[in-house]
Amino acid sequence: MAIPRKRLGFIGLGAMGKPMAQNIAKRLDIAINIYDVNAEAMADSNEWGAVVSSSPADVAASSDIVFTMLPADEHLLAVALGADGIIQSARDGLTLVDFSTLGPATIREIDAKFRESGARCLSAAVTLGVPRAIEGTLSIYVDAAVHEDDDIMAFVRGCSSTVLPIGDLGSAKVIKLVNNFLTGVGNAAIAEVIALGVKAGVPLETLLRLLLKGSAASFLMEKDVTETVPVGDLGPGRFSTDFMVKDLKLAQEMARQHGHPTHFAATALAAYNGSRSYGHANDYVGSVIRWYEVAANMEPVGPIEKVQP
Ligand code: NAD
Repeated sequence: MAIPRKRLGFIGLGAMGKPMAQNIAKRLDIAINIYDVNAEAMADSNEWGAVVSSSPADVAASSDIVFTMLPADEHLLAVALGADGIIQSARDGLTLVDFSTLGPATIREIDAKFRESGARCLSAAVTLGVPRAIEGTLSIYVDAAVHEDDDIMAFVRGCSSTVLPIGDLGSAKVIKLVNNFLTGVGNAAIAEVIALGVKAGVPLETLLRLLLKGSAASFLMEKDVTETVPVGDLGPGRFSTDFMVKDLKLAQEMARQHGHPTHFAATALAAYNGSRSYGHANDYVGSVIRWYEVAANMEPVGPIEKVQP
């Protein structure tokens, strides 16, 4: 006789969470218990066979494993520890796995409270954005304890193509924050350099083509920048300036907790905050180049047709 699969709950059905939950439901052919504070996010539940719950506590009462994909720390704290939070249904064996981008300290705080009732909280973190969430081909960092649990992993694989096990509780969040810290700094630095190069007289196409052949070449420059800045594809709908500001602040907070200096985060934040003040809060994070153009009193560097290989 087949062993019954554990029951899954999913809280936070936004741009990332909804397609993640839908892919898990489809690939594993299961009904997931769902909750979102915004009722509209659950309005199509019939179409994918999800079961709408009335609160996080309600989701946890009818699930063995709960996934969360929420905006930030304060939302997870409310969902986990609030008056109608998961903790109200905490019991032996209940596991919360959070996928949101937030600080490792929050995961450890929730886990310590859950442990008093025999439940636990583990962490994961998602790289790549909404299109990959829709395709079900996300790359997901997971704490080692997630990777060691076959029941949880069956659900994680339902929304991903690559799973990267890290280490102790919260380590998936640490990797995510240092990755985004470096990406945020690099993206702002590349925008600054491109604006300077063009202003100093080198056409954008030449500049990018030669930078891509030299020692400054990187994945970030080749993919994230060269595929967007030259063609001016910098609008909303992908990883936004606001998200990057959030992640750099999270990295700063993590550094503060460890007494570690982070000079570059502050510099990059100044650029992204400038970009926000010029209306790019919801635009793709690469739109920071538009702020450099304003700050340098120059014409937009693009669009151009294409950077030749
Ligand atoms: P989103 O704002 O689209 O979705 C968040 C969802 O959480 C919304 O549906 C919202 O109603 C719900 N929510 C908020 N508070 C709630 C509560 N108290 N109870 C229940 N539901 C609640 O955000 P998103 O783009 O899906 O991002 C989610 C997380 O993933 C963020 O931490 C973000 O940094 C991270 N992330 C996003 C991307 C991306 O490209 N969008 C990529 C990687 C990681």
